[in-house]
Amino acid sequence: MRDKYCGFVTKDDIGKVLTLAGWVFRRRDHGGLIFADLRDVTGIVQVVFSPEISKEAHDRAGDIKQEYVLRIVGKVEKRPPETENTNLPTGAIEVYAQSFEVLNTCKPLPFQLDDEDINESIRLKYRYLDMRRPEVKQIFIERSKAYKVTRDYLTSHSFYEFETPFLTKNTPEGARDFIVPSRLNTGNFYALPQSPQLYKQILMMGGFERYFQIARCFRDEDLRADRQPEFTQIDIEMSFVGREDVMGLSEGLIIALYEALKGKKPPELPFPRMSFADAMERYGTDKPDLRFELPLFEMTDLFKGTEFGVFKKTIEDGGVIKSMILKGKTLSRKDLDTAVDTAKEMGAGGLIWMRKDAEGFQSPIAKFLKDDEKSGMEKMLATQTGDVIFIMADKRSKVNEIMGRLRLYIGEKYDLINKNSDKFLWVIDFPLLEYSEEDKRYVARHHPFTSPKDSIKDFKGDYESVLANAYDLVFNGVEIGGGSIRNHRMDEQMEMFRLLNMKEEDAFEKFGFLLEALEMGAPPHGGLAFGFDRILMMFLGLDSIREVIPFPKTQKGTCPLTGAPSKIGQKQLNELKIKSTGENR
Ligand code: ASP
Repeated sequence: MRDKYCGFVTKDDIGKVLTLAGWVFRRRDHGGLIFADLRDVTGIVQVVFSPEISKEAHDRAGDIKQEYVLRIVGKVEKRPPETENTNLPTGAIEVYAQSFEVLNTCKPLPFQLDDEDINESIRLKYRYLDMRRPEVKQIFIERSKAYKVTRDYLTSHSFYEFETPFLTKNTPEGARDFIVPSRLNTGNFYALPQSPQLYKQILMMGGFERYFQIARCFRDEDLRADRQPEFTQIDIEMSFVGREDVMGLSEGLIIALYEALKGKKPPELPFPRMSFADAMERYGTDKPDLRFELPLFEMTDLFKGTEFGVFKKTIEDGGVIKSMILKGKTLSRKDLDTAVDTAKEMGAGGLIWMRKDAEGFQSPIAKFLKDDEKSGMEKMLATQTGDVIFIMADKRSKVNEIMGRLRLYIGEKYDLINKNSDKFLWVIDFPLLEYSEEDKRYVARHHPFTSPKDSIKDFKGDYESVLANAYDLVFNGVEIGGGSIRNHRMDEQMEMFRLLNMKEEDAFEKFGFLLEALEMGAPPHGGLAFGFDRILMMFLGLDSIREVIPFPKTQKGTCPLTGAPSKIGQKQLNELKIKSTGENR
């Protein structure tokens, strides 16, 4: 239907008669002349309807409206110098229409495509209009590029691409499954996969050695800001590898994506590594944002003999005292009170501040502290006049959690974060298990197929001290991927199930197929998965995951475009032998 894309018409085409097709983005009627910006997937070109070129075309152009679909035949001319638009790749030329066809009309739009502020639910309901906006279109062009970069990188590193089933077996570990009733086996249900974890391990047992999949995963969770019920992972598994092999291979993929999406030289390889324990103690989180420092300092030992009641009680109760020091920012009393209120909103029992002035420490607690405690702090924190110290005393996990969040708040508020830098970090040596308040038992922190770093044969009951052979990749304080080296022998896997307090018959009932395969020459293997949507969001500098998903769900799990989920008819329910309790909404 066309000779060329709109965005590709250049000075070299001057004098040529071209056929172009696209949508009318903007139209301006200047009486004598009518201008239309014709847009297609590549960009925009200015079309001029002049009575001197074609009276007929000019007359009919008066009826053209926004987003009409046109096919035009016109001659490419150089624009007069004063009307050149250097912001537009095609800004040096315009196309004088000789004739045109209206391929389709367009009703008045629910929103203007060049509006900056359009309500998200309207944008998603009319996603096809939203996608016509050049900046939104560009996101999906980048997404398409990212698939190709991923495939090119992995296939050139001897990976085989697979698809694994969507209709799979319900697994009790991890998040909640979406379930699908089976018509052929009424009363039975498939589950949509939370990830292809077991299939990819089985493929290692199938001897493929290097697997990848750009995999859709489904998790029926309450949706938080950057979560979606279905999302995409770059899923990887490798045989005969240790964790350094998996991390090294992944770094190559991540920087290839970084370069392609950000068009910038990536940070140096290898990415730094930090243990989970260090990350928690120093930054209060397992995904530290290293674009700024502001570390936490443990001061418990310094206050061992303190007479200050709050600290004394905390230490007696087995808690800790930790601080952070904000250097070189002069904080007013009001700023300090705001910081205290913020910590309380985050759940802290309290936050103590100390400001170093010429005369010494100003603080509501200064008078309770001994001189050697104060000088100990000065030495540890290398304080200077104007510095502010924030201190929290409580249970270790609570102090870390809240100070970690406060660190981010302070970093943002006092402009400590270098937004032009990007920091990758591998967090390693995670605990294998974590206590689940809900289940009242220890559960696998990653998943139950993760191997321990050291053998658990001699496990003596200290659940928290067992480390996992697992790793997470963190980018600017956001986890973008994670994985582990797996248990590849039946006895190791059974140890793990025992640790999780799973009875042998339950393990066989749920994972029998895996356990059986582990006994038939399963190779050592491990892998990881990256959040594809999240990587796109981060690398493109967007603040919602919905921006990078063509048809995302709302916070309530609905699809504004199609209206899913919806009721199904009685006939279908009968076929499935499902009876509604009438409580559906
Ligand atoms: N399947 C895991 C996940 O989705 C990743 C992995 O262990 O490879 O988190």
